[in-house]
Formats: sequence, structure tokens, C-alpha cells
Amino acid sequence: MPGFLGDKQNNIVHHLANMKEECKIINIGLKDKQYFDPDTLENAQAKNFSPCKLCTSN
Ligand SMILES: [Zn+2]
Repeated sequence: MPGFLGDKQNNIVHHLANMKEECKIINIGLKDKQYFDPDTLENAQAKNFSPCKLCTSN
């Protein structure tokens, strides 16, 4: 299972293991889903995705 999911509509990356209802991941369309390889927050940020404040902070 992937750890991180990016939303291409707003360039926000979510941490799936820690996601909140407010992340509204269910609203991300199939074409707007971005997975990362390697599956890390650092890699997502390197690809210009901003960390979601709700689920990526520790
Ligand atoms: Zn989130």
C-alpha cells in the first residue's frame, strides 16, 4: 500500500496512513492521483507537491 498520495489539482501530498476526513482524499479523481517512487514525502516535495497540513505533520 502506498504511503503518500498527491492531488494534482492542488499539488498537495497526503500521508495515507495518517489521513483525516478533512483531507477529502475520496474527492481526488483517478486522473489527479499521483503516487511517488520512491514513496517518500521528500520525493513528493522534490516534485513540487506541498505537504498537507492535516496529515503530514508529526
Ligand atoms: Zn491530508
